[in-house]
Amino acid sequence: DDPASTPTIRELDDRTVRQIAAGEVVERPASVVKELVENSLDAGADRISVAVEAGGTEGIRVRDDGVGMDRTAAERAVEEHTTSKIDSIDDLEAGVGTLGFRGEALHTIGAVSRLTIRTKPRGGGAGTELRVEGGEVTEVGTAGCPEGTVVAVEDLFYNTPARRKFLKTTATEFDHVNTVVTHYALANPDVAISLEHDDREVFATEGRGDLRSAVLSVYGREVAEAMIEVGRGSDMGDGGSAPTAEGDSPPVESVTGLVSHPETTRSTREYLSTFVNGRYVAAGVLREAVLDAYGGQLASDRYPFAVLFVALPANAVDVNVHPRKMEVRFDDESGVKQAVTAAVREALLEAGLIRSAAPRG
Ligand code: ADP
Ligand code: MG
Repeated sequence: DDPASTPTIRELDDRTVRQIAAGEVVERPASVVKELVENSLDAGADRISVAVEAGGTEGIRVRDDGVGMDRTAAERAVEEHTTSKIDSIDDLEAGVGTLGFRGEALHTIGAVSRLTIRTKPRGGGAGTELRVEGGEVTEVGTAGCPEGTVVAVEDLFYNTPARRKFLKTTATEFDHVNTVVTHYALANPDVAISLEHDDREVFATEGRGDLRSAVLSVYGREVAEAMIEVGRGSDMGDGGSAPTAEGDSPPVESVTGLVSHPETTRSTREYLSTFVNGRYVAAGVLREAVLDAYGGQLASDRYPFAVLFVALPANAVDVNVHPRKMEVRFDDESGVKQAVTAAVREALLEAGLIRSAAPRG
């Protein structure tokens, strides 16, 4: 380097800015699937079908029977920072009722793929088909289609070869897609959610609203039958939660869901699914809390199944931590952890699956 020359600071062009930003939201096919399924859920769908080709690297299609969009809405939806879900940061502070709110998913997906949206508003109105390629709307017109929305994404990262190169094998990319769709299927047992890979059905939930039957559809009978109920809908005010140093209000409102018999385990933690206010979060602290509840009852390096929903006041948790929204920040992390362990322990004790010795850790 020549010490005499200072670097020139240049302004990046819009296209480059867009592609860099896209990388924050869309890392791999599974991130596209996540955003599209969230949009379908936010649209009030009762049925969502996800189909991917070659692990999602060649094609992704998410179909829903949600509210749909009229032509104007569809055109707006693919623009930058457009959302129908919040108006200002105040809405976020108050707690968002929707999974999306950043207004960037469709725009960024459109910037790094060939995107087609076919959508028709519920209860009448014309259908619209809209195509976006590399961030530019290339076609928009009327189309015959059923009510609801189909979003198809082809050739992901075709115009960002560096990122395309980072994709793993088809099998690995599909694993990630499967994990994402599984979490949404478990979190929304009232919605019929199906997953297809290369024209083969992987699973399909019935949407009957019953968590155990969703577990049955996703993980099979052996696992479903080994699940015991946590929380039984009871709130944490009745002694279910551990007292905290922070004050009188319990750190969580409820901990509910299903956890497996200590002998129904797998060799990875990936079947410990934890949800905070309905949102899947990969929080190590919540997984630890579940494992602690089993005390010494788990064989070494074996992990149970859990589908656990932690509800807490919107203002006690910050979901606006990361664009991919997988992380959260708790005001009272140790209080939340203790409450989760206590709820799972109570269920395991009641089922006679652990003894009442002090929890490990
Ligand atoms: P966000 O979900 O954060 O609002 P998106 O870019 O994912 O941002 O979507 C932009 C807008 O497009 C949404 O706010 C919604 O109004 C509309 N939209 C997206 N997907 C669907 C869908 N499947 N059904 C109905 N409307 C949708
Ligand atoms: Mg969205």
